[in-house]
Amino acid sequence: MIIDLPQHLLNGVFVINTSMKIEDEILKIHFPINFHEAMYELTYLMKGKKQCFYCSRTFSEDKITLDHLVPQDFGGPTIPNNLFPACKKCNSEKTNMLKPFYDKYLSLSTNGERSQFVSDFQQVARFLHRWYGLAFVKDLIEEKEIENIIVNISLSSSYRGKKYKKIKEYYKQYGHFQKPLILDRKSFLLDGFTALMFAKDNGIKNVPVIVLENVEVIF
Ligand SMILES: [Zn+2]
Repeated sequence: MIIDLPQHLLNGVFVINTSMKIEDEILKIHFPINFHEAMYELTYLMKGKKQCFYCSRTFSEDKITLDHLVPQDFGGPTIPNNLFPACKKCNSEKTNMLKPFYDKYLSLSTNGERSQFVSDFQQVARFLHRWYGLAFVKDLIEEKEIENIIVNISLSSSYRGKKYKKIKEYYKQYGHFQKPLILDRKSFLLDGFTALMFAKDNGIKNVPVIVLENVEVIF
C-alpha cells in the first residue's frame, strides 16, 4: 500500500527532519528508526495540530493527540492514512470503538445510555476479535513468510516483556494476530518486532503484514 505523504512536498527532495526526507515520492527514514514518532510527525505535518477530526473544534497544540481511526485494537496501523488529530476528550471517549460505533455513541444523549453502550461494545468487540480478526484492515494486508522479513537488530529476550505477553494472550484467545507487522518496500521491518519474536518462538511461519511501497529505510 501507499501511505499518504504531503502532496505539495512530492517534487524534488524535502527534508522533514534529521531522520526523515521525501525524495522521488518515497519517504526515506534513517536507521535507527522510531517508526511511531516518525508517523506522528508526518501526520501533524499533513493534517495540522489544531482541529479535532471528530468534534471539529480547534484547540491549542498541547491539547491535540492522534487517534487511530481503525483502532489499534482491530489492527489499525500507525500510519498517516489511519491517524487523525483529535482532542483529548474525543480520543479518550472513542477508546477502541470502530467509527460506526462511535457515531452511535455520540447520538446517545444521556450518560447512562452512553455508559451502557460502551459496556455493550466491549462484548461486541470480543465477538469481532474472534470472528472477524483483521477484517477491518483486510484490504491493506498480505501474508508473508517470516523468513522473508528483514530485521537488522538482534531480537533479544528484552522483547519478551509485557507487550509479548499481551500478543501471546491475544493469539491464544483468538487464534490470530491482533495487528499486522509493518514493512518498508524492501521488506525491512518497521513495526512489530515483538510480534515477530513471538512468531519465531512459536514456529509460526506466516504473519499478516502491511507493506509500505513508498517508504524506505536508509542507512
Ligand atoms: Zn474533539
